[in-house]
Amino acid sequence: MSVRVAIIGGGLGGIATAVRLASQDYRVTLCEASATLGGKMNSWESRGYRFDTGPSLITMPDVFRETFAAAGERLEDHIELQRLDPVADYVWPDGTAFRHTTNLPSWLDTIRAIEPRDVDGFLRFLQLGARIFEVSDATFLRRPMSAPPDKRVFKALRHFPFRHAWGNYARMVDAHFRSPYLRQMFHRYPTYVGSSPYRSPATLAVIPYLEFAFGGWFVSGGLYRIVQALAGIARAKGVEVLLSAEVEHIGQDSGRVKSIRLADGRNIEADVVVMNGDAGLLGQLLAEPAPRALPAEERSMSGFVTLLGTGTDMPHLGHHTVYFSADYRREFDQLHAGAFPSDPTVYVNAPSRSDRSLVPGRGEALFLMANAPALSAPWDQGTTRAAFERVIARLDRSGLPDLRPDIVVRDHWTPRRIGTTYRMPGGAIYGQNSHGWRNAFLRPANRQKLRGLYLVGGSSHPGGGTPTVLLSAKITTELIGKHERA
Ligand SMILES: Cc1cc2nc3c(=O)[nH]c(=O)nc-3n(C[C@H](O)[C@H](O)[C@H](O)COP(=O)(O)OP(=O)(O)OC[C@H]3O[C@@H](n4cnc5c(N)ncnc54)[C@H](O)[C@@H]3O)c2cc1C
Repeated sequence: MSVRVAIIGGGLGGIATAVRLASQDYRVTLCEASATLGGKMNSWESRGYRFDTGPSLITMPDVFRETFAAAGERLEDHIELQRLDPVADYVWPDGTAFRHTTNLPSWLDTIRAIEPRDVDGFLRFLQLGARIFEVSDATFLRRPMSAPPDKRVFKALRHFPFRHAWGNYARMVDAHFRSPYLRQMFHRYPTYVGSSPYRSPATLAVIPYLEFAFGGWFVSGGLYRIVQALAGIARAKGVEVLLSAEVEHIGQDSGRVKSIRLADGRNIEADVVVMNGDAGLLGQLLAEPAPRALPAEERSMSGFVTLLGTGTDMPHLGHHTVYFSADYRREFDQLHAGAFPSDPTVYVNAPSRSDRSLVPGRGEALFLMANAPALSAPWDQGTTRAAFERVIARLDRSGLPDLRPDIVVRDHWTPRRIGTTYRMPGGAIYGQNSHGWRNAFLRPANRQKLRGLYLVGGSSHPGGGTPTVLLSAKITTELIGKHERA
């Protein structure tokens, strides 16, 4: 008889695990508390404008291909990936602006025009990222936390660039670049995992490397198509998908999981339980006396997101533009102190510039995001309005025409809304932050002490962000195959 698996949460990690397990004859039930699948990889549509409300850029496309291939499918038969080139435009308050392309000769020309001596620095920076990637791919990204290292790991570690990789991220960037603009541009990458450049380890140089080497990608029709495609495969493979199905308890017997209980009282027997919701919520589901919640200072950042449908086209906008604040350091000091920045750096994603199916004939579907602290602060109407005014003020000062008179539809996602919608304390998008070595590399393990209990997703190993979550699903599936197969 096949092994019965209950998955708690239909975020990307939960769905990918369901797809992988169902492709190997496990009997899978996926329970999602919300009415729709996808978790943070969510979408919103209003008056013909279509938005991704979560991820807007994916990296490491091969990890997505692997997930489809695990089900015997070809990604290209389900979704269309578009490589973005340039990946982003960067704009500074003093009017300096440039395009970040992943085309090496063009990018070196750009750097040469900014600061000729930084060409060499960039090449060394890229090499450092490449070596960190080589090591982490073998030791961290594709292996469970507790797995004993194999020969490949030792071989990879022999080549580890110790001198640069063990320090602080921002200082390491500054050691490679002289231009304040290039420094600030590369300082931004730890925010891809909700962390501060001034508190993260230098190993996060792997993030700009991944983007440069494997590109930044968009999905035609929006990134939510990934969720729809994988959910379709899961259902076709026989996964039972229960929506509006909140799990409130994990039952156990003699040191092993045995069932889950839904809020409506239904009991589902299971040999294996996989938690895709925030790892910090596990204690509650197990009715443990001591809660496991992550302390507020260890949470990754949240975001303040505004979705805007505009009435007129904005042909001057690229797919991604970053409008930097006047003082990046001060911005992170304010975030660290738990405040929304007085002058936030604003990331503007205009997917309708690459895909006109996202708008009703004309106009743009814009996603504006600024970093925000992950606190359970109230974020009432007044706070939300004030934060939006700061976002607009930054865009005004950076030369973007005032958007307000042109708004057709609008929706705000505050840290509080992100937290309550996806059940993550404080709306910490990436679970734990990557500040310091321990936090960057030690996340809750995919296989838990209670037999039959597993974790998958951004709050567990190897961490948040869509490709890492898909690797988490791979690791968890492999562990289940090793330990639970009859
Ligand atoms: C605004 C924003 C921007 C982002 N930008 C990017 C980006 O550009 N690139 C990128 O790669 N990543 C980005 N991310 C991060 C990315 O979305 C996440 O890392 C990833 O989607 C998390 O997947 P997950 O598997 O951890 O599940 P989650 O999305 O956390 O979903 C977990 C699910 O579990 C459900 N759940 C929890 N508890 C229970 C329960 N008791 N019973 C039933 N269901 C439960 C929740 O309802 C939720 O649906 C962004 C996220 C946000 C919010």
